[in-house]
Amino acid sequence: MNLTETDTSLFQRLRFVLVETSHPGNIGAAARAIKTMGFGQLVLVNPRFDDALTHPDAIAFASGALDVLQATKVVASIEDALLGCKFVAAVSARLREFSPPIFSPRALAERISFVQEGEVALVFGSERYGLPNQIVVNCQALINIPANPEYSSLNLAQAIQLLAYECRMATEAKTETRGNVGFHGEAASNEDVEGMYMHLEKALIAIGFLDPDNPKKLMPRLKRLFSRGGLEAEEVNILRGISKKIIDLAKK
Ligand code: SAH
Repeated sequence: MNLTETDTSLFQRLRFVLVETSHPGNIGAAARAIKTMGFGQLVLVNPRFDDALTHPDAIAFASGALDVLQATKVVASIEDALLGCKFVAAVSARLREFSPPIFSPRALAERISFVQEGEVALVFGSERYGLPNQIVVNCQALINIPANPEYSSLNLAQAIQLLAYECRMATEAKTETRGNVGFHGEAASNEDVEGMYMHLEKALIAIGFLDPDNPKKLMPRLKRLFSRGGLEAEEVNILRGISKKIIDLAKK
C-alpha cells in the first residue's frame, strides 16, 4: 500500500527540523531519509553553509530526493521553524537534568501517530554540539535512541532515518489495525480518555475490585492496556456506559 497516497495525515504534517547543521552531505542524506519513508518536510535553522541546499555534497547525498531538498525551507530561528506546530519533540543523544519526558523513537512515534491534527515537529541538533538546552526544555518530549552507552552518538542523517522509519511503522500499524476491523471512527481525545479512566476506577472501587487504600498498580496497568490499542471516541463511550451500569448495580 502506498501510504503517501492513501493516508494524508502524519505524512504531510510531520516536519523534520535540523538546527545548525554543519555538513551539506547530511542535509542531502536527511532529504533522502525522509523521502524514502514517505515524508517531505525538511526545515533548516541556520545551517553552517549558506549554499547548504545547492552544495555538491547535499545534491550527491540526496540522490533521488532532490525534490525534497529543493523544497527545504531555511529559517533564521527555531521559533520560525516551529511556527504552527502542535507537538514538538527534541531528538537528543544526551539526557539532561531538566528535560521533558523521555521517549524511545518507537514510543514517541506511536504517540504522534495519534495526534489527530496539526503540525508535528522533530528537532535534531548539530553534528558537533547537539541541541542547546533552551530548545530542549521548550519541547514536549525528548527522544533518545537507545545505543551503546560508550558510543551513543549516531550520524545525524542516520538518526533522522531511524525516526522517520519508526513514524512510518507507527502510522502503518495504525492504518492496518483499523483496516483489519473493517471500519474506524474518530480517535478519542485525551480528556475523554482521562474521564473514562476516572469513571472506570470508581466502578472498580464500587464492586470491591480496587481497594482505594491499597490500589497497587491496577490503574496504571489498565491505562497501559488501553493506550496500546488507540481508543476511539465511541469505544470510550461504551466503557463509560459499562462503568455507569456497574456503579448503579453496586448501589442496589
Ligand atoms: N555531539 C552531539 C551529538 C550530535 S549527533 C552531542 O553531544 O549531542 C547529531 C544529532 O543526531 C543529535 O543532536 C540528535 O538530534 C541526533 N542523535 C544522534 N545520536 C542520537 C541518539 N543516540 N539519540 C537521539 N538522538 C541522536
